[in-house]
Amino acid sequence: MSAERREELAESVAEVRARVDAACRAAGREPSEVDVLAVTKTFPAVDAALLADLGMTLFAENREQEARAKVAEFTQLRPDSAARWHMVGQVQRNKARSVARWASVVESVDSPRLAEALRRASASALDAGERREPLDVLVQVGLDEREGRGGCPPEDVPELADTVAATEELRLRGVMAVAPLRGDAEVAFATLSTIAHRVRRDHPEAGVVSAGMSGDLERAIAHGSTRVRVGTALLGGRRLTSL
Ligand SMILES: *Cc1c(COP(=O)(O)O)cnc(C)c1O
Repeated sequence: MSAERREELAESVAEVRARVDAACRAAGREPSEVDVLAVTKTFPAVDAALLADLGMTLFAENREQEARAKVAEFTQLRPDSAARWHMVGQVQRNKARSVARWASVVESVDSPRLAEALRRASASALDAGERREPLDVLVQVGLDEREGRGGCPPEDVPELADTVAATEELRLRGVMAVAPLRGDAEVAFATLSTIAHRVRRDHPEAGVVSAGMSGDLERAIAHGSTRVRVGTALLGGRRLTSL
């Protein structure tokens, strides 16, 4: 069973890498500029362990409770792994403290209040020896206000980026976005690219552009994405829709 799953995952890892390589070539970019984040939500820790065996090091979850349990189990399965876990879903402020224990990166910071909650959470985790480094943060850009899927209104992003960058406990790394369900993804990724440039101009260390999923990673790479977040194309269909 596990051997079969390993086979299946090995194939999908190779396929996703090939898609990323081809998209980079088409855009005149180096494949080394684009990281692949494995979105393991709804899949068991053992799948993450198999992906780690296949060389994946970046994992993402979108729900705090599920993530906390999975990261603990994964750490037992692969204690020596260099895996890093990213939070890509909306964070409730009362869960910030827990997120700061397991997440290397929170990609979904979309308000000054959440930034402040995470700053405090990171400070106490650092004090308690639960983390050694500040929490890396991406500002999530809302590309469609009607959808309510989180995200900071584009016009407020520079100020939120400044707020994050001014703290010692958070490190601003860049921006993240989910393409709108409706509307033109092409336009959305172009908007994101403009915002990303602005943020990078103000904060040269904030060069990450996290955009593109199983269905649209080529388009995101064409618009400058440096990190694609891939669930379905790596792990298969999710039984429970979790977005
Ligand atoms: C689930 C999820 C993904 C991955 O989506 P797929 O279409 O399965 O690749 C990417 N980003 C976020 C924020 C998600 O919640």
